[in-house]
Amino acid sequence: MKWRGRRGSGNIIDRRRAGGRGRGVAVGGAGGFGLLAIVVVGYFLGVDLTPLLDDGQMQTGGGEITAADEEAAQFVSVTLADTEEIWTDIFANELDRSYDPAELVLFKGATQSACGGASAATGPFYCPPEERIFLDTGFFTTLERQLGAGGDFAAAYVVAHEVAHHVQNELGVLGEINAVRSRSDEATSNALSVRIELQADCFSGIWARSAEAMFGSLEPGDIEEAMNAAARIGDDTLQREAGRTVRPDSFTHGTSEQRQRWFATGYQQGSIAACDTFAADRI
Ligand SMILES: [Zn+2]
Repeated sequence: MKWRGRRGSGNIIDRRRAGGRGRGVAVGGAGGFGLLAIVVVGYFLGVDLTPLLDDGQMQTGGGEITAADEEAAQFVSVTLADTEEIWTDIFANELDRSYDPAELVLFKGATQSACGGASAATGPFYCPPEERIFLDTGFFTTLERQLGAGGDFAAAYVVAHEVAHHVQNELGVLGEINAVRSRSDEATSNALSVRIELQADCFSGIWARSAEAMFGSLEPGDIEEAMNAAARIGDDTLQREAGRTVRPDSFTHGTSEQRQRWFATGYQQGSIAACDTFAADRI
């Protein structure tokens, strides 16, 4: 992805120097509070990292801000700015309305959100009541080394996916579906979560298509990096690679095949209407 020297977003809140260090050890552990935070945050649309927790692969973050951290922050800022321009354009053209962008909190180690404690172990997530995305750029290392999804466009896809949850919130989809989920049994709630997540993947595909058309920022191999990331964070793949039994009724984000297919649908069709996972017979 071509991003160096390009315009960044004004909606970044940088908390990386705000005392996350130290607290990160307590919150980042896989023990009581850490797990509780993951359950709470997991409901709020993060990347589901729980299969990684058992085998101690998670890095808990904290420490000095390195040159690599600064570069990652600039990359996130440019990617976020791209999403703002793209969704403003799509909202105007397809829905005849304005787009109110999300803020993105950069943290290192640990921070608090209205959706619970955020740590390296929770992964990036979107918190609807705050309309904010929470991201520790150390996750990009986890994505590449532990999850096998390297490349800058894999990282950009993660940012675009979290922004997609904000788009869903703007559209009223999140509030509506989460209200139904709160009075559903676990299997039904999980099945609805999968449809939310696959729609976010489809919206991420729209973003990729628009980035290519509006900015010419894609490079050869970028779409493959996003498609690989979508596969690597599929529920079936995460469970299998963690040595667990694959249990479809526990899926909250969709299989690798589903995540790839919905990303591809958004990329090929480029419209919000094409991403109605809630109306689809086959997801
Ligand atoms: Zn999500």
